[in-house]
Amino acid sequence: MAEKGHTLSKSTFIRGVQCLKSLYLNKHRPFLRDRLSPEQLAKFRRGHEVGKLAWQLFPGGINCAPGHPSQYTAALEKTRNLIVEKTPVIYEAAFSHHSVLVLLDILVKNEQGWHAYEVKSSASISETYITDAALQYHVITGSGLSLQSFNIIHLNPDFIRAGIPDVHKLFCIQVVTDQVRGLGSFISAQIEKSRETLSLKHSPSIPTGQHCYKPYPCDFIGHCWKKTDKDSVYSLTGIPFETRARLAAAGHLTIPDIPDGLLEENDAAILASHLSGKDIADKDRIRKMIDGNVTPVFIAFLVVRPAVPVVDGFRPFGPMIVGLNRVDIQGKGESFIVEPGENPVYQIRNKLGQWASESGMIVHSGGEWVKDTLSQHYPDLTEKFIFLDLEEVFLSGYFYRPGLIPDAGINDIAAFLNLTGPDQINISQVMAGVKYMEVKKENMKETLKELGAAISAEADSCRSVYNFLKSIIYNEA
Ligand code: SF4
Repeated sequence: MAEKGHTLSKSTFIRGVQCLKSLYLNKHRPFLRDRLSPEQLAKFRRGHEVGKLAWQLFPGGINCAPGHPSQYTAALEKTRNLIVEKTPVIYEAAFSHHSVLVLLDILVKNEQGWHAYEVKSSASISETYITDAALQYHVITGSGLSLQSFNIIHLNPDFIRAGIPDVHKLFCIQVVTDQVRGLGSFISAQIEKSRETLSLKHSPSIPTGQHCYKPYPCDFIGHCWKKTDKDSVYSLTGIPFETRARLAAAGHLTIPDIPDGLLEENDAAILASHLSGKDIADKDRIRKMIDGNVTPVFIAFLVVRPAVPVVDGFRPFGPMIVGLNRVDIQGKGESFIVEPGENPVYQIRNKLGQWASESGMIVHSGGEWVKDTLSQHYPDLTEKFIFLDLEEVFLSGYFYRPGLIPDAGINDIAAFLNLTGPDQINISQVMAGVKYMEVKKENMKETLKELGAAISAEADSCRSVYNFLKSIIYNEA
């Protein structure tokens, strides 16, 4: 069952399915990789924690996880021995077949035979998870162990916390045996392709495109995209990325290559804006959206999305507001952050209600989740006050300036429009949430101060962008 050394693992195999050039560069030019963002590192940590929690579904197992790559051979040996002994539950079971190594989260033995379980820190199953499971099935059965079933364990999207979570309700188990068996020939062919690619003298010539971001943002984007021409179709930032990728795939690589009449109305307007260098500003629509008889208050939210909900009433990954910053129309601001570990729902309701009633209209950014979360956890407030998401103006295409990225986030939009100084703090909402979740007692004070400054900067950006849009309506910009 065990083989010495391996050329592919689960992650490198999936990398090759996404792009063979990425597989090659990862092996032969790893120094060209973009640095892992703190958000990605936090995602890995989360995956590990959820995986361990799922062990409780099959308690009492023996862990074979190698502590270091040098211990893979020992992990394979340990797994092999435990299987021979018919150990009922094995965690991180290691298998190798034709130089492909996989670590299976949970292997279970019952009267019918062996059953494989792979844990995903996600609330649904994606195509990539099925491919990943199919590779594992291929390697495990190829190494000589017959499997009765292959299963994916994921977080239950309908779970709502009420007290300490029961793992049997928190997780769903989906049997995917038929799907993974059906992918057998694809997996064999892809392993072969990956091997051939890794033995090449030079990286394969693969153009950039949609696959650079799907299913995961590739970590060679910095390298491959740096030579993108100024008149590349990808510079048309107001046109959805998928459309630009389709244009490039159809051979329309540069702006002059785009045939007349090919683009739909909105996209054609973006192209015209690039060619003329003029802004798009639909004043009537902007006025309808932002103008009102009430003085707004600008509010930024500090939000966390724990995979396993930590407060009753929340679902896995359910956004939970733990901090607020408000800035009034004159620019006077104030922050409020709930102490980590405390239930934020009531404190946030009180503060938000108080601030909203001083104004009547809350101007914010952040997209759909804000509205959904507020109406779910604070329905009384959402009914009473007007909530205006400023990013909608840009996502709807009511305002566009060549080079603006409509879904960039309010801080980046404000910076692009030269509304903020170079020292503006810009911590992404995701990163701010991660910092809050991972705060330690010893650095709590500084971290909360930093987060307060981050949401304050976001509320300031909202105010600047709001004033900018107002000036457009009244022809001052
Ligand atoms: S950036 Fe795109 S083309 Fe380059 S290696 Fe990654 S996926 Fe492949």
